[in-house]
Amino acid sequence: MCIFCKIINGEIPSLKIYENEYVYAFLDINPCSVGHTLIIPKKHFENIFDMDEQYASEIFKAATHIANLLKEKLDADGVNLINNSGEVAHQAVFHFHLHVIPRYKNDGLNFIQPTLKLDQEYLKELQQKLIN
Ligand code: ZN
Repeated sequence: MCIFCKIINGEIPSLKIYENEYVYAFLDINPCSVGHTLIIPKKHFENIFDMDEQYASEIFKAATHIANLLKEKLDADGVNLINNSGEVAHQAVFHFHLHVIPRYKNDGLNFIQPTLKLDQEYLKELQQKLIN
């Protein structure tokens, strides 16, 4: 059984923040910022590619709740929602998890994404490939 399934089953202790029938949310033990929370589905899905829509929707419903909780109780000024799916995306635990990372003014974190320079023609080709 994976480490997150063990957390859900209570075999491994965790600092629970929120839970319902579908999801479980707890404080990350290696936080990026104060209040960094992980939201996981109570059913084992490896990552975004094998998740069903119901759990996906429940995860994001919980994210809105957690984000507001962090804002209200910890005075977060913003949040980053991050999911790593697949080894190439630096997924480390292969049970889907969404990071809710509260942000504070001058917290020193930097998740700014680099920008690829792609020409308009190539972008149009991409669009056609994705919609056809
Ligand atoms: Zn699992």
